[in-house]
Amino acid sequence: MIPDPPAPTVVDDLVALSRTLGEPARNLAILAEGNTSVRLDGEGSSGRMLVKASGAWLARLVPEDLVELHLASLVGLLDREDAGDDQVTRAFTEATVARDAPSARPSVEALLHAVCLSETPARVVAHTHPVAVNGLLCSGSADLLGAGALFPDQIVVLGRHVLVVPYVDPGLPLARHVRGMLRDFRARHGTAPRVLFLRNHGIFALGASSDEALQITEMAVKVALVLQAAAATGGVVFLTDEQADRIDSRPDEHHRRRSLVAREKVSR
Ligand SMILES: [Zn+2]
Repeated sequence: MIPDPPAPTVVDDLVALSRTLGEPARNLAILAEGNTSVRLDGEGSSGRMLVKASGAWLARLVPEDLVELHLASLVGLLDREDAGDDQVTRAFTEATVARDAPSARPSVEALLHAVCLSETPARVVAHTHPVAVNGLLCSGSADLLGAGALFPDQIVVLGRHVLVVPYVDPGLPLARHVRGMLRDFRARHGTAPRVLFLRNHGIFALGASSDEALQITEMAVKVALVLQAAAATGGVVFLTDEQADRIDSRPDEHHRRRSLVAREKVSR
């Protein structure tokens, strides 16, 4: 009998997701665009995450391109009114857990990963700059992405509501802004969003697993393409609130949502 192959480690899993996201045909990220992260332990702002290092390419990612950081050191920076670029650099150094590749440094977008992992139940975060989505995010029609649901599968994968974030200076200002919007979203909808659309920038997919983060990214791209096609062929017609709420609450759709989430066992 052939034994089962060993379960992939968290590192293998994040490397595989990153390389998939970086595949040229997907048009999600070129060069060193985009980044991925995974929570290693803890909850809320406690615990550690692994995040892609600045300058590393998703398409060619290797384990040495991942940096391990304490979430609390990064998230704590957001509450310091006087914090500037120097403090961000120092906080990154303090937050970094010693690793084999000391030259690898997190990008400034690691702050947003820390916010997403500490403010939502997400375990894996995938940030990309998809051509199809950015076509809308860089247009006067960006708000269409948050204006309603187009088709049932969009609701199953992306949730009933998504978050569209205005353009804010990257780094601490953007991380603070997104944290505020995530808290408002939770207060309004009683749940966390699964995708963030950042105007003139790209998307953050918030998944329970790497499979889910990829599914959310793929669905966000599909929604953007359908929106553009609908706008070009007579105008966008969204589902009504009643129709969308019905999909969101149907037991069979809940079942479909659960069965989409990967059940692979991931060990460290
Ligand atoms: Zn980016």
